[in-house]
Formats: sequence, structure tokens, C-alpha cells
Amino acid sequence: MQTNTTGARALHLLQTVFGYPSFRGQQAEIVDLLARGGDALVLMPTGGGKSLCYQIPSLLRDGVGVVISPLIALMQDQVDALAEVGVRAAFLNSTQTYEESARIERSVRNGDLDLVYVAPERLMTPRCLDLLEASKIALFAIDEAHCVSQWGHDFRPEYIKLSVLHERFPAVPRIALTATADHQTRAEIAKRLQLENAQQFVSSFDRPNIRYQIVEKANGRKQVLDFIESEHPGDAGIVYCLSRKKVEETAEFLNANGVAALPYHAGMEIAARTANQARFLREESIVMVATIAFGMGIDKPDVRFVAHLDLPKSIEGYYQETGRAGRDGAPADAWMAYGLQDVVQQRRMIDESDAGETFKRVQGVKLDAMLGLCETLTCRRVRLLEYFGQAATPCGNCDTCLNPPVSFDATVPVQKLLSTIYRVEQRFGAGHVLDVLRGVDSDKARQWRHDKLSTFGIGSDRSEAEWRAILRQSIALGLISVDHDAYSALKLTDEARPVLRGGQTVQLRQYQKPVKQKRQTARPKGYVESDLSATEQAIFDKLRWWRVETARKHNVPAYVIFHDATMREIAKAKPASLNDLRGVTGVGEKKLETYGEEIVALIAEMG
Ligand code: ADP
Ligand code: ZN
Repeated sequence: MQTNTTGARALHLLQTVFGYPSFRGQQAEIVDLLARGGDALVLMPTGGGKSLCYQIPSLLRDGVGVVISPLIALMQDQVDALAEVGVRAAFLNSTQTYEESARIERSVRNGDLDLVYVAPERLMTPRCLDLLEASKIALFAIDEAHCVSQWGHDFRPEYIKLSVLHERFPAVPRIALTATADHQTRAEIAKRLQLENAQQFVSSFDRPNIRYQIVEKANGRKQVLDFIESEHPGDAGIVYCLSRKKVEETAEFLNANGVAALPYHAGMEIAARTANQARFLREESIVMVATIAFGMGIDKPDVRFVAHLDLPKSIEGYYQETGRAGRDGAPADAWMAYGLQDVVQQRRMIDESDAGETFKRVQGVKLDAMLGLCETLTCRRVRLLEYFGQAATPCGNCDTCLNPPVSFDATVPVQKLLSTIYRVEQRFGAGHVLDVLRGVDSDKARQWRHDKLSTFGIGSDRSEAEWRAILRQSIALGLISVDHDAYSALKLTDEARPVLRGGQTVQLRQYQKPVKQKRQTARPKGYVESDLSATEQAIFDKLRWWRVETARKHNVPAYVIFHDATMREIAKAKPASLNDLRGVTGVGEKKLETYGEEIVALIAEMG
């Protein structure tokens, strides 16, 4: 009985406050559990809709919902977005003055807030814990819960201390949320936050609207420019690079070629970094060129592509970064250029790090899985989901499905490569080895008398690019290692022996010449690119202008006003009255009240 009424009230809030017709996936179950006082551990991909899982129960229960989040920079936008739909929210963090904090603390104590966002280091202060004890609390939501994991890349020591919540507030329900999927992290969250008895909700990690594509790197910068010009002109996107220097150079290069790009990395002044982030969030078509320091918690829904110019360290990292594309569910691209140098560089970073052996071994295993994804001959999505323990079938929306790579028996060429490395006594790097193999006349070859070797020129039948692809894959397969202590000399590993002796064959991906990107048309079922008629498109464009101005007036990001999807629906519905507008997804009561008249008038104007 109680469940039923809770469910009905939850649905009512979803529709009237947030303007959405129905819950998605496991949201309804999670909301219900929390509303009735249960604990939950929620694993949902980025864009899956985690926020509503604690926002609605906070509204349903007495008291204030306390959201713990490490993302101080985003709290303002989150609170603004809630204010837009009429939810009373505030935050407590180090960016505020004493007076501001004191005012918010008073509203918490008086029960005047539905939600309060708190940074973890703030929460742990005696002052804050005392405040919470003196207040009525609806629930604790621990966002980005993977920050509690020491193995992960976002470890925050303060997160470990969050177990204190359970000890001091045993009666308050808790929900921990993350988009990190692996079992180890999940187990660590449950243990460290004392959520072993919480119900676990694991969603599918598939992001069907994201198209995965990994191309061979020739000239990365030029390739990413081609990609943006042909597939995403005027779209918002993120380009990830490994180093600060490369971030600066790439942003400059894109700008010089007519793409509005901004840099972001940890070496920049905080003010400049924050300003760039704000422009990316607020404007419609900025390309952010960044190191991985950028993006955690960025909830801009209309990022149309994420490009990698360097290989991520792990599939977890790759998935998290690419997951920032297409949170609104519309088609988006995850594009990466990858080459020999990436493999060498990442291996070197592991070898040269001063971490312990166990950690290095873990990093090595993670890198191998990432390389496996790059070199796979089968569906990228299947590989990705398998990595997270989920079965899948070929997706039809990744490069290997759309354009299946050709594999070939590469045993003989690999043997030629291995024996050349052996003949030059495993003392030379890739450039020279490939020169000898291809019989290139060079001073170095003559000086070392390598032009007299039996393997000199036995590979002249293939281009340098083809040999690089073979070498890269041989390194990825662990047949060849790179000795960073000795001028990056190529060495044979134990695994190379059976191949050299002829006891083992090798299948590799055929090298594909990089082709200029062409717009591919096939999109998965259910994703309509733009199905607007000319009139509707004109309304949509007009709404976009209206939104830019309104966002500027209210000093909030455009998507906080309305998402593109909502505006597309409005353009199609052409509402003639407030009542017509009421049914549109994403238009709740508060937004109807604030913007309804303006929108109806704007549409009437267009006749
Ligand atoms: P996450 O935190 O899991 O990355 P969000 O909570 O930011 O995702 O939600 C992603 C997007 O999906 C948001 O724009 C949100 O408004 C939208 N959304 C969430 N739940 C629903 C729903 N039931 N119906 C329609 N849209 C939803
Ligand atoms: Zn696929």
C-alpha cells in the first residue's frame, strides 16, 4: 500500500517539477527504496540519470537531502538548475564567505531547504556535523563514490572518512552513486562506506548513442581537424591530450584553422582555467582541448564529440572520458587517433614511474586491455562492455562494425621484423630497425655495416606506415619490448621465440591508409538526427537565440533553461497555449510559469 502511494507521489513530482513523463531504467525502484528509508549503491553510466535518484526522495522525505560531492566548481550550476525547476537548494563549500555559509546553515537548521550540496572536507568539520545533528535530514547522497577507491584515478582521502555518516546518523538512508563500473571499485565502495547491506543497482553501461571510432594516427592534429570540420562543425566537443604543451599547441592549431577552441590543464592559472570552463559550459560551440584534469562531473548534456589525441591509460579512463559525449541521448562520437608512439610512451610512463611493483603490474594489465580494444578485429562496444562484465552483441555503431577491419596472417612479416631486431643486436630503436628492414640507404646503416645484414631490405615490399602498424601491434601483443634505459632499443621478449622458430602464427589487422573523414549516414535505430521541417527548424533556431539571451540574463548555462531535445519538441508541437506547452518533456510547472508566456508569444509571432 505504502509503496503504491510513494510511487504515485514520486511520479507526480517527476512530471510536475521536472517535466518528464516517466522514470528511466531503475530510477523508480531506487527512488522508492530511498523514500522508504533503505540504502542503495547505484552504478549508472554518465547521462543515465543519477541525480533524480536522490533529488526526488529528498523531496518526498522530511528534511533536507545532503549531497556530498567533490565537484565544487559545479555546485553553483547544479543549484541554479534546481532553482529553475523550483527546488530549494544551496551549497556549502570553501568558495563562500562566512556570512553566506552562516545564512545557508541557518536555512538547513530551519528546514527551509530541499537539498544542500556539501564538499566532503567541509562535511567532516565538527561544525558541519553538529549542524547536521541539529537538523532534520532526509538522506545522504554520496556522489562520485568511486573517489573512495585508492586504486582509482580520482582518489580523495576525505572520502574514506565518510563512513562516519553511518556511525553518527544510523537512521538516515544513504545512497552512493558512481559511473565507474568495475567490480573491484564497487566492492571497495560498499566496504569503505559501510554499504555492504545496501541494495545494489547496476545498470547496463552501454551508451548506444555514442559511436566509437579508433583510427591509425598519421598526423593527429590534422586528423582531428578534419574530423571536426567534416563531422562536427559548430558543435561543442572535447579533445583530450596527454601533456600541457600538447594541449596549448593543439588549441592554437585549431583556432588558427577556424575552430573555436580553448585550452584547459592543471598548469594554467586557476582564474583562466575556470573562465575557459565557464565559456565551454555556457556557449554552444566551444571545443575544449584539455588534459584529463578536465571533465569530471561536467554535466553539459550536448557535448557532441570526445576526441583523444593520445592513448588513455586504461579502459576505465577511456570510458569515463568518452562518456562525457552525448549525455542528452542524441548521436555523439568518441573518436581516437592512435599509433606506435602511444604504445611506446605509455609503456615508458609505467616503467619509469616510481610506484611499487604491484601498482606497475596493475597499470600494465590495464594498458594491455586498452591496447586490446584499439587493435580488436571485432565490435568495439562488445569489447568495452565485456571489460565491464556485460555481454553484448555487435552494435552496428562503431568503426569495426561499420567498416570491418581485414585481418591477415602476418607470421612471415613479423618473423622478418623480429629477426631484423635480433640481427642489429637489439640495440636500435624503431626508426633504424624499419630502415634496415626496408633497405633504406643511410649513413647509420653503413656505419654499423647493417647494409650487409641478410635481413637488409627483406621488407622493401611494404611501406613504412605498414611496417609501423605491424611493429605497433607486435609491441601491443608483447612480442617486442622497448628498452627505455637504452635509447628506446627494440628487444625480443620470451613470447617472440615460438614465432621466430615458426611454431606459432600471428594474425594482425591490415594497415588501412587514413582516409579523409566522410559523414557516415547509418545511425542506430531510434536516433533521429534532425527530423524538423523547415518551419520547425526556424522555430528551433529562434528558440536557441531566445535561450542564449535568457541564459545570459539569468547568468546560467543555456541547458539549464531548456535542453535541445525539449526545444526540438516545442518546435514540433508549436504550442498555442500554456496548456499545449505543459505536455512537452522537460517542461515542469515552474518553467511553465517562468517561460511559458514568452514561448507561446514567440511561436505566435512566427505565425
Ligand atoms: P548522470 O548524473 O547519471 O550522469 P543526470 O542525472 O545528469 O545523469 O541525467 C542526465 C540527463 O538525463 C539529464 O539531462 C536529466 O535531466 C535527464 N533525465 C534523467 N532522468 C530522466 C527521465 N526519467 N526522463 C527524462 N530525462 C531524464
Ligand atoms: Zn560495434
